[in-house]
Amino acid sequence: MREIIIATGNVHKVQEIQSILAPYQIRVLPAGAVGRMPTVLEDGQTFAENAALKALAGARAWGRIVLADDSGLEVQALDGAPGVHSARYAGEDGNDAQNLAKLLQNMAGRTDRRARFVCVIALAGPQGILGRAEGEVQGHIAEEPSGCGGFGYDPVFIPEGYQQSFAALPEAVKNTLSHRARALQAALAQGLFSALPD
Ligand code: IMP
Repeated sequence: MREIIIATGNVHKVQEIQSILAPYQIRVLPAGAVGRMPTVLEDGQTFAENAALKALAGARAWGRIVLADDSGLEVQALDGAPGVHSARYAGEDGNDAQNLAKLLQNMAGRTDRRARFVCVIALAGPQGILGRAEGEVQGHIAEEPSGCGGFGYDPVFIPEGYQQSFAALPEAVKNTLSHRARALQAALAQGLFSALPD
């Protein structure tokens, strides 16, 4: 079985990536299994830059092939915000609940509620970046939160073609159509994981 480490401290991301890659005989290890996640200043202007920064930092710290996920929510009526600042929308010390409250406040009274989640994954070894893949899912922002699964903005994101939020839909549904699932499917299709030793 091939193994890959994920450069993240976000347990939700780890669980989702583990579930998505399980059918492909790829074992996904959290950063904590190999050491401490190095501090990374996520100052890139794009998801792709930040994913590369995190993957390289992990690969250099641990001498292994490392995957990183940089993702976020882009809302049309807010000119793409929160975008790359999704995790820190309510400030450096903000949490998921505060980010979500700020988003709903900024969306109050708006009729155009179109949004998309974007995910870029990067794979790196100690020598450099091995590849990148991107996925997105279109949808809209609900008037109020619903559901108790998932994380982040899941309670207010209704994917296109569905009536329920990502937090209300079964995990297996989110893991089939999410931005993260699509980025990982694109990486598999590119053969990115064939760089992993058995
Ligand atoms: P990152 O860890 O810098 O990539 O920040 C990702 C942030 O985007 C998270 O903290 C969430 O706020 C948001 N986000 C990314 N993916 C998802 C998702 O699948 N569901 C809900 N929120 C997400």
